[in-house]
Amino acid sequence: MTEKKFYLTTPIFYPNAKLHMGHAYTTTLSDVLVRYHKLKKDKTYFLTGSDENTQKVVAAAKAAGQEPAVFLDGIVGNFKKLFAALDISYDQFIRTTDEQLHWPGAIALWNKLVAAGDLYKKEYEGLYCVGHEAFITEKELVDGLCPDHGTAPEHIKEENYFFRLSRYTEEIRNKIISDELRIVPATRKREILALLDEGLQDVSFSRPRHAASVGIPVPGDDSQVMYVWCDALSNYITALGYGRDDVLYQEFWQNNPDKMHVIGKDILRFHAAIWPGMLLSAGVPLPATILVHGFITSGGKKMSKTLGNVVDPEELLAEYGTDAVRYYLARHISPFEDGDLTREHFKDVYNADLANGLGNLASRIMQLAQTNLAEPVKVEWQPFPPEFQGAMEKFEINKAAEYVWSRIQSLDQQITETAPFKVIKTDPEKGKSLIANLVQELALIDLMLEPLLPQTSLKIIEAIMANQKPQNLFPRKD
Ligand SMILES: [Zn+2]
Repeated sequence: MTEKKFYLTTPIFYPNAKLHMGHAYTTTLSDVLVRYHKLKKDKTYFLTGSDENTQKVVAAAKAAGQEPAVFLDGIVGNFKKLFAALDISYDQFIRTTDEQLHWPGAIALWNKLVAAGDLYKKEYEGLYCVGHEAFITEKELVDGLCPDHGTAPEHIKEENYFFRLSRYTEEIRNKIISDELRIVPATRKREILALLDEGLQDVSFSRPRHAASVGIPVPGDDSQVMYVWCDALSNYITALGYGRDDVLYQEFWQNNPDKMHVIGKDILRFHAAIWPGMLLSAGVPLPATILVHGFITSGGKKMSKTLGNVVDPEELLAEYGTDAVRYYLARHISPFEDGDLTREHFKDVYNADLANGLGNLASRIMQLAQTNLAEPVKVEWQPFPPEFQGAMEKFEINKAAEYVWSRIQSLDQQITETAPFKVIKTDPEKGKSLIANLVQELALIDLMLEPLLPQTSLKIIEAIMANQKPQNLFPRKD
């Protein structure tokens, strides 16, 4: 049997601001899925990165009195610090300013679209929002202003290359309907199909080069630079070596049926319409799955400085540690809908589920083992329970975590009901066997914890192998 492959990407993140809880969620959700596949012995590849060819970065660097490249290194360093603090096990961090790793593939993809006859030059007249770095339609304006930025868009008339996206409407639609391109959850599938029903418009694919332009030059036309679509979306294949050394590309994209993008709901159209159109035009296989998650609110409201309800992932990580934050995101945020996080709820959950729940259980069982068993229990391999596996296969990491915690609860009950600490006094052999059984059950729970709480999972298995009570895994917080 050939080894199964699994390729997962997060979006590439904008380096013009600090990453927030939504980014922490995207990367944690992704990491849990990748680790689960690793446990199944699949060969995995996990990509993340940053979307750097943007005018905003140049402006922000100028404001900070730095060269854009130095400024970017600083921000990307902070991204990586956050990912390390969350224990995100990515294989590669792609940067779209990388002329060696990223640009050759973006240019190769562009050339494929040209060869397919899908790029044409046209005078473009429209409204451009500087804040969005994107064109905006009259329909989207509120009182003549961009609703997100509160600024009036610029009226722009310029020559652009256009991508014949309209040509692929039907093909994309059919692939989404048949789940050949699977959009999860169903609400997002319906949303994108409704958009496809209206028909896709051709999209602007380049911008005229100005003195301050950043980005990838259009091959064969120095007057233009690539617009975000070919510049950014292409990262999912350029990182694997598309258009240069394509060993990884062949392995994880071209010949791999299991490749998925994890995205937030705000970028669904780019990933489920524009990107598939580009791939179809270039004759490149489509991703198999696009998993679309929601936003994280706080107290039911969008996190904002004005409301003072922003919960910063770095602060939570510093206070509670990696696995506590991963736990909250995995268990208490639905991957399919908007979720909520407040400091109060976080603390309650931490104390109830981690300090009293898992931490207490591991310490109770291993205390019994350490006191009463002469040597470590030889843990037998057990398969994933179907409830856990079923939830994971459907990307419902919250349901998977819920199942693990139901096992924690019943194991806790089992200790109380079988009372090995009493039995051991009257029937030592039976008492020992009861305790060994508890350790075995703890080991199964620990196996399921690995993708969710990797550091804790390691501490528990080490405790089991040493036949020792672990250090306090989750100290109570008052
Ligand atoms: Zn705007």
